[in-house]
Amino acid sequence: MKVETSRRRFLQGSVALCVAGGTSAGISSLLTNSKNSPPDETKEIATLCEMCVNKCAAIAKVEGGIVTKLDPNPLFPKSKNMLCARGDAGIHALYDPDRLKYPMIRIGKKGEGKFKRVSWDEAYDAILNGTEHFKGLLQIVDEEKNNRSTIAYCAGEGMGEHTFKRFMSDKFGSTNFVNHSSICLQTTISGYALTIGGYGKADLENANYVIMAGANRAEAILTPDTMDMFKRTRGRGLKLIVVDPRYTNTAQHADKWLGIKVGTDLAFVLALTYVVITEVLYNKEFVRKNVSGFKEYKKHIISNNYTPQWAQKITGISAHDIYKIARDFMAHAPRAIYYQGRRTAWSRQDFQLRRAQAIFTALGGGIDVKGGIVFGKRLSLGTHHVDLPYYSNVKPRIDKHEAAFVGPNGTWIGMRNMIIEGRSPYPVRGMFIYKQNPMLCVPNVKKTKQLLEQMELVVTIDTMPSDTVMMSDVVLPECSYLEREDPVKSFAGVQPAIVLRNRVIKPLYNSKALIDILRDLSARVSKPLFEITKKYDKDLQEELKDREESEVYEEDGYDFTQAFDMTQEEINRQRVVDEYGEEAYNILKQRGVFYPNMEKYFKKISENEYEYYPEDKKFYTTPGGEKIESQDTCIDIKAMAALKKNIGTQSGKVECRLKSLQDKGVDPMPTWRDELYKKTPKGKFTFITGRHALFTQNSTQNNILLLDLMRENHLWINSVDAQKKGIKLGDIVEVESSVGKVKIKAYPTAKIIPNVVFFVHGFGASSSGLTFGYRNGVSDNMIIEDTIESVFGSAAMHETIVDVRRV
Ligand code: SF4
Repeated sequence: MKVETSRRRFLQGSVALCVAGGTSAGISSLLTNSKNSPPDETKEIATLCEMCVNKCAAIAKVEGGIVTKLDPNPLFPKSKNMLCARGDAGIHALYDPDRLKYPMIRIGKKGEGKFKRVSWDEAYDAILNGTEHFKGLLQIVDEEKNNRSTIAYCAGEGMGEHTFKRFMSDKFGSTNFVNHSSICLQTTISGYALTIGGYGKADLENANYVIMAGANRAEAILTPDTMDMFKRTRGRGLKLIVVDPRYTNTAQHADKWLGIKVGTDLAFVLALTYVVITEVLYNKEFVRKNVSGFKEYKKHIISNNYTPQWAQKITGISAHDIYKIARDFMAHAPRAIYYQGRRTAWSRQDFQLRRAQAIFTALGGGIDVKGGIVFGKRLSLGTHHVDLPYYSNVKPRIDKHEAAFVGPNGTWIGMRNMIIEGRSPYPVRGMFIYKQNPMLCVPNVKKTKQLLEQMELVVTIDTMPSDTVMMSDVVLPECSYLEREDPVKSFAGVQPAIVLRNRVIKPLYNSKALIDILRDLSARVSKPLFEITKKYDKDLQEELKDREESEVYEEDGYDFTQAFDMTQEEINRQRVVDEYGEEAYNILKQRGVFYPNMEKYFKKISENEYEYYPEDKKFYTTPGGEKIESQDTCIDIKAMAALKKNIGTQSGKVECRLKSLQDKGVDPMPTWRDELYKKTPKGKFTFITGRHALFTQNSTQNNILLLDLMRENHLWINSVDAQKKGIKLGDIVEVESSVGKVKIKAYPTAKIIPNVVFFVHGFGASSSGLTFGYRNGVSDNMIIEDTIESVFGSAAMHETIVDVRRV
């Protein structure tokens, strides 16, 4: 990355550049330069980790203004007293020398990485008015006659997503939003929500039998409940069956591993269901009271002959094992769970797979009970009201017909492909990106590059110079999670709690918190954009005939600044005090965690064991009269309510058959479709991807503390397959699909089934701004084809066929 800067600014920046070493040497040198607090002062501040989605509670040790250590905060029931390796390495996210330090605007060709350092005002001005290199917001919105949806926007998972949407959706008015859902967990969230009323949470602490298929908790979500689960496997109370084409670290802790063929899980679940139904092993009372359409489902399963023998041919799992698992599962029910899964963007049959899993768990009665899938309780928080403007020229999202049901989080691949293939009903000309790296996280990198090249304005807010930053026109540096207070969050569950990410130190360099960026940007763009609305919006023109312009601007929501008139700290305070009073807020602020009676309930049991709620106060079953709440934003609650009338109510039934799906051309009951199963051709391989415990998607690719533990990714290939091809450990192999090819070191192993290859996601950055991440390992999305499933438009990432050859 090349950044032009004046001599004066270079000198200003040089202190920051030389002190931010990221290693202990770098940290100690910061001690002498810090302006945050006196050099001898030591503080401990409660905060929350942001190194992955789990949001574990942490305590940051600050010495002389420098964060020197991150420790777990035992008060939070969700994270107990644990930070994982990534949590510990969060300190590098703060002191990474490659961090974005000041606003920048592009001065070279897009993607070339040539930027100019500018002030915040200059950056906001460039967004509004453009430069000789790119167009500005005003010109684009004017030319599109105030159709605000001409500017698409995307965000990665995190506590700032809602704040970003406040600006882009609530105030600016664009409808074209995408986030991680359609490349992550959309199908499982929707499948469970439509079938049992919500995604819920697997009560792994109390379950006695768990089938974990394709979910690699030991590496992908290594949280305290995962660790607690492993304490009880292998003859210690919990029987864990892992079904996966790879013998993962999770499988190593399991009682049994079944190496299933890729894309055949639905056949496996349908066969389990066949056994349970034909042998009448299900919980008859639970089914009678709570399951709708069971008779039809029973007929469907039997008439389609979904026998274990049928499934054996498809899945590669023996009929004997299928019979045994079905019987064992029901013998342990209702404390038996077919685990929901997290990143479920696997195949085109994925939505039906999740429905089949949910119904299977329900047949044992493991819904809303201890040891099953639980919904718990959510502690309410006060609301922060914002007035919304109405723009009559704004058009609906472009991708709504790319799948049967496209929710408010859209379909990433669907939206991108519509734009680059010229299928959008109106021009989408710009993009705002927050905390997401689509260049590396969306299948088929070439197409994402084409999208960003095509955009006339790309504004990216991030902490690191990612591959996406390199494709941007304006780059706004957000401060890291340890330098800002984020929106207060309430975590639902068996032991609900409210948590707060406190600011630990002031933002380094010239970075800012998202809310502060959006407040300042609002002040710059709000009035000029209102002028455009006045020009094209007939409803507004009518309104202005009877009322003062200033009154309409302020009272009807056109004033963007109204959404950001309070600081994050003020908003958090108000939301907590409104519900629980001043004292509760003070506890939350100081200790990072609050729940009613915390002072009374919280007890240390032994050295690293705590009690949060007494057993009789836990919410294993949703409190009477309260709605089972969907705990994720991947689904549109209103749309879902229309699909399933009793959704979210305790009296709502498990839906075996959904007419609303049929009305949209989707199978109303889980059905195996041969035509949607992509077999591996002879001599080729199916490529699969996944996570590693040390890395979180692409956000840790420059973290040297983690890279020191595992430097790069390798291609897992079955030992026998490798031998046939003359491939040995460490050989460079080329992996080629229909959309791209990569070169990577080989890891022949018996821990993967034949005809399947795998490497870990999160490597292969091509941004020269990343000292350690640059060209380190390879990116899976270089070779993953952009296939989507037809129900929710989610990616089908495990359907790519590749050739593998030694080079
Ligand atoms: S699981 Fe690890 S990375 Fe994720 S929030 Fe917890 S400590 Fe941080």
